[in-house]
Amino acid sequence: MAERIAGPEIERLIQLLARLPGLGPRSARRAALHLIRKREELLGPLADAMRVARESIVTCTVCNNIDTRDPCMICTDPQRDGATIVVVETVADLWALERAGAMRAKYHVLGGTLSPLDGVGPDDLNIAALATRVGAGGVKEIILAVNATVDGLTTAHYITDALAHTGVRITRLAHGVPVGGELDYLDDGTLSAALRQRTPF
Ligand SMILES: [Zn+2]
Repeated sequence: MAERIAGPEIERLIQLLARLPGLGPRSARRAALHLIRKREELLGPLADAMRVARESIVTCTVCNNIDTRDPCMICTDPQRDGATIVVVETVADLWALERAGAMRAKYHVLGGTLSPLDGVGPDDLNIAALATRVGAGGVKEIILAVNATVDGLTTAHYITDALAHTGVRITRLAHGVPVGGELDYLDDGTLSAALRQRTPF
């Protein structure tokens, strides 16, 4: 047990901050000290924002996204093309794709990947709801934006099989050379995938 340097209220703040991704005990202490120094401009508003978020956050019953309304902002956005659904593993992946701003599509958040070794089966993921959305009609393309991992590909194959009878077009993200990437630095798997999935110039 590390030596205590402050009262239990501050120690508790440090311990909670240390649970955040990317923050170890040392950076948690620095963050806590920063919050305490800026308690009027930062600690107070942050505590208020956290309380409001905690009270209003819901899971979208259509796409499994996290928002403060149900259906979520993306599902109710009339500017978005409802004929295309981008399937992602997590809300973090949805946010990443939205940050890229490449598509004005709708999404479907699986909540993970199939993982037989970890005991994660189809019923543990949001796959049945995807089939229901496709079955309701109006969907022309499903883009499988899952991670290029063994579990991600297993999940993509399962979804492709599960939706085969619907006739919907199913595509997946290309794998290859990253934008700004140098060939010499790429791993063998990425290089061979880039060669296989080459496109006309
Ligand atoms: Zn939604």
